[in-house]
Amino acid sequence: MSVTQQQVLEQLAGVTSPRGVALTNANVLSPITVSDGKVFFSINVDAAEARAWESVRAQAESAVRAIPGVTAAMIALTAERKPGTASPPPHRHAGGGVAPASTHRPPQGAPSPMSRQAEIPGIAAIIAVASGKGGVGKSTTALNLALGLRDLGLRVGLLDADIYGPSVPRLTGIREKPALNDDKKMIPITRFGLSIMSIGFLVEEDTAMIWRGPMVMSALTQMLRDVAWGTLDVLVVDMPPGTGDAQLTLAQNVPLKGAIIISTPQDLSLIDARRGLAMFRKVNVPVLGIVENMSYFQCPHCGTRSDIFGHGGARHEAERLGVPFLGEIPLHMAIRTTSDSGNPVVDSEPDGPHAAIYRAIGAKVRDQLRGVIAAA
Ligand code: ADP
Repeated sequence: MSVTQQQVLEQLAGVTSPRGVALTNANVLSPITVSDGKVFFSINVDAAEARAWESVRAQAESAVRAIPGVTAAMIALTAERKPGTASPPPHRHAGGGVAPASTHRPPQGAPSPMSRQAEIPGIAAIIAVASGKGGVGKSTTALNLALGLRDLGLRVGLLDADIYGPSVPRLTGIREKPALNDDKKMIPITRFGLSIMSIGFLVEEDTAMIWRGPMVMSALTQMLRDVAWGTLDVLVVDMPPGTGDAQLTLAQNVPLKGAIIISTPQDLSLIDARRGLAMFRKVNVPVLGIVENMSYFQCPHCGTRSDIFGHGGARHEAERLGVPFLGEIPLHMAIRTTSDSGNPVVDSEPDGPHAAIYRAIGAKVRDQLRGVIAAA
């Protein structure tokens, strides 16, 4: 029997809001999406009231999950800062998050915003893969890097946080939806020996695209904390492209041990990469290095290398900026075809030259995280 919006509203009518009226009468609910047993909506409140609403969000979620036929409920608490008011400190709770619509640079000597974040039990290191703009091969690199880390003997997860356009379902060929365990946590899909989670497993791409800024953070927090990740050495987070407020908020709210920036050799993209670097520095996340993707053209027939964009731009830039240069990945047909058919090259051609490049990048990343992983 399929779940209806009416059933959801009836359940929510039983939850009392801090305003003393039923949640359904508090004028805070977004439209409710019910799709295939999965329920999504947000509770929109003023940032100043957000703390008081956290338990209401949790109650609403339990109420919705109790409806027979509901397989997942993603309920975001969104708080938008009114123009001209001070930014409240970001805070979080299990299962959801509240993000201010804008963030500011911490004063010199102030504790890092990271210090306010709870680690995720069982995960030694969470790292972000970011890019200044879309289309530079960030997701392809994130997945193949995760596989490279796997090949080094690490237990690895991949979280596709690109809520605006999740590509991990396409890159991995995963079509199934995650099941819930007894604690009502989503069980990540295991593929290629990786634990994988993507918003694209839960909603159609179109639905993901219309989510507003603050909901992105809330949904991501749930994908981090309401997922039974188990024990992982590294969780690779494929970030949404760009370096705007949404990305800054993510970088600030996820307990990151480091970030990797993907750039293509063109100048423009290096400028974007510099922005990415500045963003992570702003929130005190160490940049583990820059990867140059589509670095040179490698002919699929004769293997000849052509440096069509010049050579060494990203390496030089990394040196100038004082961050490690992690490696160059060629623009090669095999990377594109394997990626777009759901058979990432590190897995489908493990003995080939591309897999070796991703593993070498993985080794540099692993070396930088060694202390954290060993400590865990
Ligand atoms: P982003 O996540 O930055 O938007 P994607 O990883 O989705 O980028 O890649 C964009 C396109 O480029 C995809 O079709 C992908 O297969 C292709 N691509 C990525 N890296 C390479 C590469 N090194 N060589 C050839 N094609 C690539």
